[in-house]
Amino acid sequence: MRRIGGHSLSGAMGALLLAASACTEATPVARVEPRAKTGPLVVYTVNEPLRYFAARIGGPHVEALLPAPDDVDPAFWLPEPEDLVGYQGADLILRSGGGYARWIGFASLPRSTQVDTSAGYRDRLIALRGSVTHSHGPQAAQSHGDTAFTTWLDLELAAQQARAVGEAFADARPLLRSDFEIASAKLVSDLERLDERLLEIGAAYEDESLLFSHPVYQYLQQRYGLGGDSLHWEPDQDPGPDEWGRLAERQARSPARWMLWEAEPLPETQRRLGELGITPIVFSPGGNAVEGVDWLALMNANADRLEAAIRRD
Ligand SMILES: [Zn+2]
Repeated sequence: MRRIGGHSLSGAMGALLLAASACTEATPVARVEPRAKTGPLVVYTVNEPLRYFAARIGGPHVEALLPAPDDVDPAFWLPEPEDLVGYQGADLILRSGGGYARWIGFASLPRSTQVDTSAGYRDRLIALRGSVTHSHGPQAAQSHGDTAFTTWLDLELAAQQARAVGEAFADARPLLRSDFEIASAKLVSDLERLDERLLEIGAAYEDESLLFSHPVYQYLQQRYGLGGDSLHWEPDQDPGPDEWGRLAERQARSPARWMLWEAEPLPETQRRLGELGITPIVFSPGGNAVEGVDWLALMNANADRLEAAIRRD
């Protein structure tokens, strides 16, 4: 590299070069701020669908993070102090509507970086009748709240959330707008294809009354016309004699042939369901990451199982 501004320079030329040298010295200082803004956008999310959308749309321009451990439901997770520091320092925080991850409303987080990705469909949020409080894993008792929040199981709403993510990224990095728009359009098209598929599958269940192991399928039911009742069972627990008794009574009144589960139920549960004429179908809500499968593949696998069950019939 050519050395400038040294003792060998003199006269007018030297003065010019020294001025240039002064400029090149000053430039890095002037660039500090823009450079900080041109690194990858650090985006903290509240669930796996949003993390997946952020990663798909952001590509190399975004670091998409969901700090909740993968064995908890992020809807009921409470962040550790170090997780909060991450959210506080994020360029963007992607929130989900219906009171999802309620801790976020009470945490000390900058308003300016928060994006409610459900803002576009507030009028389509589903109110819950009677709130249900119980324990989800190691956390304290939590309530499902008064609004259903597993909104992304309506893939049309999921597509709206994806668009909102793309717009938030473009606002934060206007120079990358076209990259974000292209990736967002591709993701939205994937979501719309799955939506159409689920509409077809849902139509095949038109005359069926289904059971749902947990009250998290409201948007799926509404969008795809899947009628039936929600219980409050956990895949890894026996629900107890009272619940079994209520289910047997319900079956006598209005038999259901299928029950959607968040995960594979216990073998004993499957056996007893079988005695009542009920076949379980795993339909993972996908609020958190599942190892070895991306979120869209997980949703498509749900659709595969739902379709296979009615086709086998
Ligand atoms: Zn619950």
